[in-house]
Amino acid sequence: MTNSDLYPTDRLAAAAKAAAEAGLDALLISPGADLRYLTGYEALPLERLTCLVVPAAGGGDPFLVVPTLEKPAAEASPASRLGIDITGWGETEDPYALIARRLPKTLGRFGVDNHMWAEKLLAFGRAIPGAEAALAGGVLGAMRMIKSPAEVEALRTAGAAIDRVHAQVPQWLRAGRTEREVGRDIADAIIAEGHVRVDFVIVASGPNGASPHHEVSDRVIERGDAVVVDIGGTTHDGYCSDETRTYAVGEAPADFLAYYAVLERAQQAQRDAVRPGITSEQLDAVGRDIIADAGYGEYFVHRTGHGIGLETHEEPYIVSGSTLALEPGMAFSIEPGIYLPGRHGARIEDIVVCGADAGEPVNKRPHELVVVDA
Ligand code: ZN
Ligand code: ZN
Repeated sequence: MTNSDLYPTDRLAAAAKAAAEAGLDALLISPGADLRYLTGYEALPLERLTCLVVPAAGGGDPFLVVPTLEKPAAEASPASRLGIDITGWGETEDPYALIARRLPKTLGRFGVDNHMWAEKLLAFGRAIPGAEAALAGGVLGAMRMIKSPAEVEALRTAGAAIDRVHAQVPQWLRAGRTEREVGRDIADAIIAEGHVRVDFVIVASGPNGASPHHEVSDRVIERGDAVVVDIGGTTHDGYCSDETRTYAVGEAPADFLAYYAVLERAQQAQRDAVRPGITSEQLDAVGRDIIADAGYGEYFVHRTGHGIGLETHEEPYIVSGSTLALEPGMAFSIEPGIYLPGRHGARIEDIVVCGADAGEPVNKRPHELVVVDA
């Protein structure tokens, strides 16, 4: 499998067809994961407009409009393999009017990527009067949710890279060091082990572990602390890693050890339950029920997980209330946690790909509590 397998040439046609089915006459896609997914072009998110236009099936060919100074970068990207027209606009031109002129005259409803800047969306509204804007996230999210074999391979690569970082965490985690110092070592390793970008580093020690999205602080790690380490980055291919392990610096408190055992059981049961057909809310309940039955239900304060690919958080979300049935190729986190406010917390997280009859975790580090020397 080569890098170019990540950007198959039939995706634009599939998006045009999906747009038509969703009642959208065109998709307008600005820089971000959707643009990269459809073309392979990792465009800079600038105030100057870069926009991929995908008319609904039957409405014409897709084209890419970029600032003239970005044209060489666009032409050097995988987008050039798609054979689409790449038009540059000069500094004094109005790119919105340029796009409006090339859109079908009958355009009634257009879809924009969910992350398009508000100023760009409003400018399109002025340039295409009478047309209704809608989010294209549903159309593109449904496509991106099912990973191709090349994408699964890219997620395996990302998973192995972040595994190698976690393998080194015990050597940095010590009583007397601050979370920030440990976080700096981890961030360096995220790059050294095969990412081009550090997306987040959470080192949540002692009571900070009870805040699921604590990042790092100047708190000095103490002997007996439990430490939640949740880290991720983006690889050269654009695919994201995300993995949590919980560590203990010396001997952890007895009440922590009691619920860590419950958490480990819940996360294992959820990994084992992954298969095509199980719904998102059923998978969430598998872990939530185990945690609730052990008396910690009120301390599991978030959903079980999120999809992952070109973004760390994307469809499908593994959450109560979602009746979405899992399908082969879906990739998502399984990350139950238990958080005792003011005391400590724990989370265990793996990225899992739904296969033909079971889940395949791309993270392979052991799940038991890692006790490091104080
Ligand atoms: Zn995470
Ligand atoms: Zn996550």
